Amino acid sequence: MRILGVNFARRHPLALALAGVVLAGALWSHPTIVDAVTGAVPGDTELTRPLLYTVLAPLSNVLDALTFLSLGRAQAALAVWAFALGAIGAARRGTPRLRVGRALLGPIGILAVASATVALPRPVPRLAVSDSSVTVLNYHAHTNASHDGRKGWTAEDLGEWHAAQGFSASYVTDHNVVFTRRLERPIPLLPGAEWSVYRQHIIALGPVREIDRERYQGDTPRMLGLFAELHRQGTLVIASLPEYWRNHRESLDAFVAAGVDGFEIVNCAPKAIGFAAPDRRDVIGLAARHDLLVTGASDNHGWGKVTCVWNVSVPGGHGFRANRVITRPIVLAQGDAPAWSAAVTQPWLMFRSLSWSERVSWLTWILVLSIYRSVPRRQGQRAGLGILARSITPGESPRAAGRPGVP
Ligand SMILES: [Zn+2]
Repeated sequence: MRILGVNFARRHPLALALAGVVLAGALWSHPTIVDAVTGAVPGDTELTRPLLYTVLAPLSNVLDALTFLSLGRAQAALAVWAFALGAIGAARRGTPRLRVGRALLGPIGILAVASATVALPRPVPRLAVSDSSVTVLNYHAHTNASHDGRKGWTAEDLGEWHAAQGFSASYVTDHNVVFTRRLERPIPLLPGAEWSVYRQHIIALGPVREIDRERYQGDTPRMLGLFAELHRQGTLVIASLPEYWRNHRESLDAFVAAGVDGFEIVNCAPKAIGFAAPDRRDVIGLAARHDLLVTGASDNHGWGKVTCVWNVSVPGGHGFRANRVITRPIVLAQGDAPAWSAAVTQPWLMFRSLSWSERVSWLTWILVLSIYRSVPRRQGQRAGLGILARSITPGESPRAAGRPGVP
């Protein structure tokens, strides 16, 4: 048995290392979802995964983890992986031509995976809530009416995207375009807009009407004047990430004085997902002191397949306690883990967040692929399961047929 184990480790060092990391992730595991304000595991909500998502867990988890990279970390991770795979390909034995081909294969593969992250149709996790009186909301999402929305990404697509992930309603907040359509299926889409004014994006939620944006350009006091006009329209005013933190950090008390109704504290857009924990704590403190909303925003433009955040909204609730922001630990870590480490820390964060069913799926795939690669073949033949049938004849033991032991 010992010899068989050593044999397997020598033949499949990568498989063994990967299985080890999957199991190590269980030892240092993160909860699947947390409350972004308290950090606690929400007892009344659960992340459920379709069967196909779990069966394809290595693909599902990797594409999700890539979706949850901040812009800086995405650039660093893709560059490091492309360089490392290229170097490994070039270092393998073979003719110069073969080595150049192998060196190119890695970066091309990384590009293909990155494209799959934004475009490949696939099953997605869904937030399930046990309390039927609450609403799972998204406060900030785009259609192709936005200049940077995905081509052909309609309000109907947006509704389907949200429904699949457990949302019971979503506001539609296109850039400087009022959404007034009435759509009830598969979930109600609610009217809103995202106004670009002086170095800030303002989310207006409710019965929005056109505004003259020029009146709110030029400086911060003029920009803050928009809040009163939006209140006259009867809409809520939410300050969007990353702009309020990047450009108006010193003026947030003025935002409060001007009547802001809330602040985003999690936003899934790559330029905003890296909001650091200490900064988030400051904003949560400000919102708590003034009884303001804190919200999460998918800020989806039709590219990513998964949301990084959900809002559990209490009906008739007001202010700080009216809304809970439910997100994933890997999302909250984006602002704290350094960009240069992303090639290693992002996979590690992913493995720490797996459920046991996902871990079992990973281990099964590792085992199946190792067995596939162990299948004996005659010289010149490529790996293939068909060879298994041809080479193990009745009465012949697997060992006699040259099949290595699998513990
Ligand atoms: Zn937006």
